[in-house]
Amino acid sequence: MNIIIGNALKQGRNILSEMESKQLIKEIGIQTTEMKLATSKEEAVKFSEETGYPVVLKVASFDITHKSDAGGVKVGLKNGAEVSRAYEEILVSALKYNPKASVQGVTVQNMVKPGVEVIIGMTQDPQFGPVIMFGLGGVFVEILKDVSFKVVPLNRRDAHSMIKEIKGYRLLQGYRGQKPVDIDYLENILLKLSDFVDKNSSIKEIDLNPIFAYPDGASVVDARMVLN
Ligand code: ADP
Ligand code: MG
Repeated sequence: MNIIIGNALKQGRNILSEMESKQLIKEIGIQTTEMKLATSKEEAVKFSEETGYPVVLKVASFDITHKSDAGGVKVGLKNGAEVSRAYEEILVSALKYNPKASVQGVTVQNMVKPGVEVIIGMTQDPQFGPVIMFGLGGVFVEILKDVSFKVVPLNRRDAHSMIKEIKGYRLLQGYRGQKPVDIDYLENILLKLSDFVDKNSSIKEIDLNPIFAYPDGASVVDARMVLN
């Protein structure tokens, strides 16, 4: 069994942290941000300096699922003073949001350039087993429910049609002078995830939200996995 998954199960956890989830994503060859867990302000500044500014700080707690709702995400931090302040603010608002939350610390990661926001997920269907989902991020998924689904395992043609099927496909093809995004790379993410869940029966849910899609490649900005 994979070390990260085994370790979580040994600790009696079925939720993987953003850092653990991104580690798994990276192991299967999908581009994501490098991140470190800081347990003090000084450490957060040290990690930020190593990473290179601008950085993003996020609360690390298994009791907080939606980090922004808890005031737990600070983006675009440009120097040590901003990182120190953000570290404190994150801890204060996270504990105000959920006084019972146990907080491991604050993660530090590089801030990636903006792209077209897409989401990719995986859930277990009682009838069909693991199913992969693709959609555009933000209002497209929350309000318009513009998503497509396919049962694992996916082949190249499935991955291609999942992306083409969504109503907002034109946004990926480039509109109003924007360059088209790298559809091949998104297909590869879908195929790699399909293969990963096919081989790891302990994965119950995956949520990559958002992924920033670029004309050349893409970057997974937030990740979450749940085990059986
Ligand atoms: P939440 O738990 O609230 O979903 P996210 O990790 O998705 O938290 O962060 C919230 C938002 O902050 C993201 O939707 C994205 O717009 C921005 N963001 C997060 N991490 C990064 C990053 N490394 N680079 C650039 N933007 C980021
Ligand atoms: Mg998110």
